[in-house]
This record gives sequence, structure tokens and C-alpha cells, in this order.
Amino acid sequence: MSPTTPGTDLDALVEDVESRNPGEPEFHQAVRDVLRPLGPVLEAHPEYARARILERLVEPERQIIFRVPWVDDDGDVHVQRAMRVGFNSALGPYKGGTRFHPAVTLGTIKFLGFEQVFKNALTGLAIGGGKGGADFDPKGRSDDEVMRFCQSLMTELYRHIGPDQDVPAGDAGVAAREIGFLFGQYKRITGTYGAGALTGKGTGWGGAEVRTEATGYGLVYFVREMLSARYEDLEGRTVVVSGAGNVSIFAIEQAQRLGANVIGCSDSSGAIHDPAGIDLELLKTVKLDERGSLADYAERRGGDVALKEDATPWDIPCEIALPCATQNELDAKDAKKLVKHGVKVVAEGANMPCTDDAIAVFQGADEVAYAPGKASNAGGVAVSAFEMEQNASRHGWSFEQSDERLQATMKQIHETCRRTAAEHDHEGDYVAGANIAGFLRVADAMLAQGVV
Ligand code: GLU
Repeated sequence: MSPTTPGTDLDALVEDVESRNPGEPEFHQAVRDVLRPLGPVLEAHPEYARARILERLVEPERQIIFRVPWVDDDGDVHVQRAMRVGFNSALGPYKGGTRFHPAVTLGTIKFLGFEQVFKNALTGLAIGGGKGGADFDPKGRSDDEVMRFCQSLMTELYRHIGPDQDVPAGDAGVAAREIGFLFGQYKRITGTYGAGALTGKGTGWGGAEVRTEATGYGLVYFVREMLSARYEDLEGRTVVVSGAGNVSIFAIEQAQRLGANVIGCSDSSGAIHDPAGIDLELLKTVKLDERGSLADYAERRGGDVALKEDATPWDIPCEIALPCATQNELDAKDAKKLVKHGVKVVAEGANMPCTDDAIAVFQGADEVAYAPGKASNAGGVAVSAFEMEQNASRHGWSFEQSDERLQATMKQIHETCRRTAAEHDHEGDYVAGANIAGFLRVADAMLAQGVV
């Protein structure tokens, strides 16, 4: 097949995506990352090109954008923009988180939604891909302000979601508090207890055990598999994590349980180096209970702990690096530092935290195993799918049962990535394995369902 056969010229497709979606560099980056290893797959399967699977995959099925007005505690009116992108429903209802952050744009939500399609496919579960968010900054806002904002947002969103249609959950800036307010308003407007319309609910009222911990725990379970493929384990390993939110905190917790020494993390105030090992209880108190900053942690921890203001943690030497903060937080310069200091495993807890150049540095270093977030951070959405299953059956699972299924899911994703990579001449390449395996599952479902 010539490279100009419709549907197989990947460079032309990327150019088309760029010109049809101007000003959305993160979305372009996410598309390039997925398409990069697909050339030979498309050559071997002309049926995908014929059905224009790729052209359909890069175009969201639907995009909803709406105004969210709300009143702050002083009586001042604010106007936010919210959106929900239903990217692909070949495998199940749209499924993905909701992000509240002042920098959120449609481009952000599209990149996240696109990633989510392949991540969700890798879990092997019946979930399509979607994402939502708003340019609302929850930082410094009172509970009442957050509640009013969530209620206003849901007053429009409710008509677009549902257990078989689209199931939002948390992401950066959206956790148990926000999901509670969103669910309350959904219930009130619809007049039904539609538990399956949102995941990440409280465990006392329809939420799944382990959902809060799932992304961080799942990330470390994935790292355990990566190490085990090299006949190694986590015992005694030095780990550095970026971020200090939900994903980071539970990654630290599980890494410590498996015997690792986690010596660094970060937030918007800077990065801390805690050579004796992070005091997890103190970190949880400061970050989760008090919604404080790492400056408070450093002050209360005392001793050798230093806070480097406005810095990333990537100059702290470590064997395992877990970027869990945000997109493009780790660049080639950071990657070179990590490699120089002897990093062995890099696994993403955030979505797309490593730049393309950083990934190239890791992939060029013989000793380094690098896992993309769509594989290594899929534990969060997997447990969300377990929550949907429990809501549909009205039967709750124990913490142990959920955690066991999470471990089995991360093991299976790891195996899928490695097997698929090997089958396509990319032995040991988790990026190729994840993207090809995710693509094949979605593409085959799309083929079977016809041109829709
Ligand atoms: N926001 C998380 C992610 O990026 C979880 C999504 C969900 O639970 O639906 O995968």
C-alpha cells in the first residue's frame, strides 16, 4: 500500500489535526504520541484505513461547552467556562474525570479525553473515553463557594450524563468534596438516585472502596510489574514523586508499604527533599486535611528537610521517578539529570507529564524502563469502572476485594503492553505496547459497529 493511501499517511493526518484544532498543542502532542507507532499496524490492516478509523478517532464524538455563573461569599458574581468532551464510545459509555483548574481550556480537555480512550481500552473493561472540566480555581475557595459552583455546573451537565451515557469522576481539583456536591445536585434535578452517573463517590453512599487510593496504588503496582520483568523489586529503592495531591500521596503510601524509601515530592510552592523518607501522616494532614502547602510540611518536619521554592524534584537522585503532578512537567533537561543520577524506572502517575523530548531521553537510555500514563495510571479509572459495576448490581465490594482486582488489572495491563510491544517488534517498549494495544481494541470495536 502506498503511503498516500487515504488513512495511512500519518504525517498528513497530524497536519490535518493541527490545522483543524488550532491553539491546542497538548491535544496535538497526545495525537502524535498515539499515532507514532501505528504505521506498520495500518500497513498490515488496510481495513482500518478503508474505514477511516484514525480520522474518526481524532474527532471527538461530541463536545459540550457551557457557561457556569456562580456567586462568591462576598456576593460577587463570577463566570466560568465548563466543558465535557465525549471522545469515543466504541467500548462503553464515555468515562473520564473532571478537572477544575484556572488553566483549563478545551484543548486541555481534548488531550485528556483522547488519552482516556486508549487508557480505558487497556483496562479491558467496558468503558469509552471522555473528559470534562472548568477553568474554576478551587484554591482558597470556601466549601460553600465550591458547592455553589458545582451546583451551577451540574444544572447544565445533568442532561448530558448518565450510567449508560457518560460517567464523570474526579481529576486535578476535583475529589470527594466536589463529587459529593455534583452528585447531590444531579440527584436533586433528576429526582433519582442515579449512583452510576458519577464515580469517586463517598464509600458510605455508593462509592467504591479503594477509588481514592486507586491511581497512586495502581501506579506502584505497575512499577512492581516493571521491576519484576527485570527480576527486581521495590524493597530498599529510592523513589521521587512529583506532586502532593491524591495520586502522589497514595503512590507514596503504597511504595512505602512495598519497602521503598520515598525521599521527594512537590507542589506549587516547590519541591521537598526529605532524605529520611517522607512522613506520610504529616503529609496527609497538611495536604488532604488542611489543604495546606509543602512549606507547612517542611516547617513542621524540621531536621534535614529542605523546601526548594518554585522547583521540581527531578534533581534529587533516585532509582524510580514517578511524575504525578501535571502535563509536560518533566522536560529533556530533567530527564537527562535523572538518567545521569542512575534512574532505572520512570512511570507516569499524571497524564502526559513527560515532554516528547524527555521520553526520547528515557527511551535512548539502555538501563531505563519508561511507562506512559495511559498504562501506568489506569488504576484510577479501572476502579471507577468497578464502582459502576457495584452501582449497577447494588452490591458493594470489600477493600480487599477491590484492591485485589486493582492489582490483577495493573498486572494484566502490564502484560498486554509487553506482549503487544514484542509482537510488533518493539520489545520492552511500553509506549508502543500501550498505544498499539489500546488502538487495536478500540479500532476493532469501531470496525464492527460500522460507520457511526
Ligand atoms: N481522572 C482519572 C484519569 O485520568 C480518573 C478518571 C475516572 O475515574 O473516570 O484517568
